[in-house]
Amino acid sequence: MTQLNVKQLSQKIKEWGRTLGFSDIGISDLDLAEAGEHLNQWLSKQYHGEMDYMSKHGSKRYQPAELVPKTISIISVRLDYMPAQLKPYNSLLKEPQKAAISRYALGRDYHKVIRNKLKKLTQKITAEIGSFNCRVFTDSAPVMEKAIAEKAGLGWIGKHSNLINSKAGSYFFLGEIYTDLPLEADRKATFHCGSCTQCIQDCPTQAIVAPFQVDARKCISYLTIENKGEIPVEFRKAMGNRIYGCDDCQMVCPWNKFTQNTQEHDFHPRYRLDDVELLTLFNWSEAEFLQKTEGSPIRRIGYQCWQRNIAVALGNVKPSQKIISALKSKLTSSTEMVKSHIRWAIEELMD
Ligand code: SF4
Repeated sequence: MTQLNVKQLSQKIKEWGRTLGFSDIGISDLDLAEAGEHLNQWLSKQYHGEMDYMSKHGSKRYQPAELVPKTISIISVRLDYMPAQLKPYNSLLKEPQKAAISRYALGRDYHKVIRNKLKKLTQKITAEIGSFNCRVFTDSAPVMEKAIAEKAGLGWIGKHSNLINSKAGSYFFLGEIYTDLPLEADRKATFHCGSCTQCIQDCPTQAIVAPFQVDARKCISYLTIENKGEIPVEFRKAMGNRIYGCDDCQMVCPWNKFTQNTQEHDFHPRYRLDDVELLTLFNWSEAEFLQKTEGSPIRRIGYQCWQRNIAVALGNVKPSQKIISALKSKLTSSTEMVKSHIRWAIEELMD
């Protein structure tokens, strides 16, 4: 077992994390008071919509030791997810008959990939210094991932509320290790949005109501993923062909010219999801949906919401008999919720 001081151990953990394939790694202390204040203001405006889990854990979210007692340090990691060869998202937006799927969801579910790597990192630390207390997270508990990563020096929270790294843009996942190890905290990243407001202007539904304030109830990511009910009619046209999430605010961000392509084969698109016709996806049976989305983040929305989203997108394409017939063919087998979206799409196409 190696004897290391706080500084040496902190550096070693970063080296081990990079060797395991993390794109970046930093360390944060536990002072998330500012982020907690921002969260409470956001919640008080009801911007979280029906995401009750955002409010239900109270201060555990910004007081890490309440969530995991004895925590004194947080290790924060970044993993880039953009595959090198993809049909560009902006070209998909110009081809309404194709599906625009958020880039993070094209391949394997990131939760498993990151969790496995984080576990390996904790095993490496144990092997080197002996046992210690820790818990690993990736988008899996009331953890303020972006605020922690910002404090760990991994990037700043942009006006669209995503984390941005000046050398890697914003197409990456985050993960954390809460631990009782005393470690040397990094310096908080500085803010570099400057006077830019591109993401605010270009959001298709004007969901970024003010810098750092995203009204989830208007956000296409929320409407197509978190929302389990009807998509309000007022947002359906603006959805265009975005059937799972929305990358527009990231696409227009100038910092994404520095995007780093992923080294993880797991994040490469499955079933050509980066370049596929809406109709092909709409014609998937439920069994096909379950089989083809196995191990993918898309599966979590379920077949009905998948059909709902594609029906809306089909209502936004150039009318054709083929599409109208495909929509009509699902009218008998779908749930009431999906049927109402199919009816809307048919009306749009026959208008
Ligand atoms: S588009 Fe501009 S304002 Fe928005 S996050 Fe990027 S740099 Fe910041």
